[in-house]
Amino acid sequence: MSQEQTYIMLKPDAVRRQLMGQIISRIEAKGYQITALKMMTLDQEIVGEHYAHLLDKPFYPELAAYMTSGPVVGMIVEGPEVVAGMRQMMGPTNALEAPAGTIRGDYAHSISENIIHGSDSLENAQIEINRFFK
Ligand code: UDP
Ligand code: MG
Repeated sequence: MSQEQTYIMLKPDAVRRQLMGQIISRIEAKGYQITALKMMTLDQEIVGEHYAHLLDKPFYPELAAYMTSGPVVGMIVEGPEVVAGMRQMMGPTNALEAPAGTIRGDYAHSISENIIHGSDSLENAQIEINRFFK
């Protein structure tokens, strides 16, 4: 199994609802290493880069408003097959469909406000780490 890095971000609703500790505990309990962590407030420009694949969607203005509505916590998380492993722990984008036991399934019930971001590929993980940590 290959050692990987992924970019995880606790979205503004996770911070507002004081779920940071619980979510970070799950990541640590899984055995992954958090090797960098910072709280930051995103601006429209960086949200537009991060969600460039969604810029033309009708929900984009709402998504941008959500992502800039308060501080987020960005993290570099490392471990074997961690990109897919974190996606599995997060559950599907639509938290209404996310099974109990997943982070989205346990803490959210919306397709938009779904409390956590995780990179969807090794390539995007490196791009996102460079975007938020360089
Ligand atoms: N999103 C939304 N409505 C949708 C699809 C996505 O509001 O119909 C938001 C949601 O917050 C999601 C983010 O846009 O997490 C990025 O979408 P993506 O398809 O990349 O899903 P993810 O990788 O976060 O599961
Ligand atoms: Mg995505």
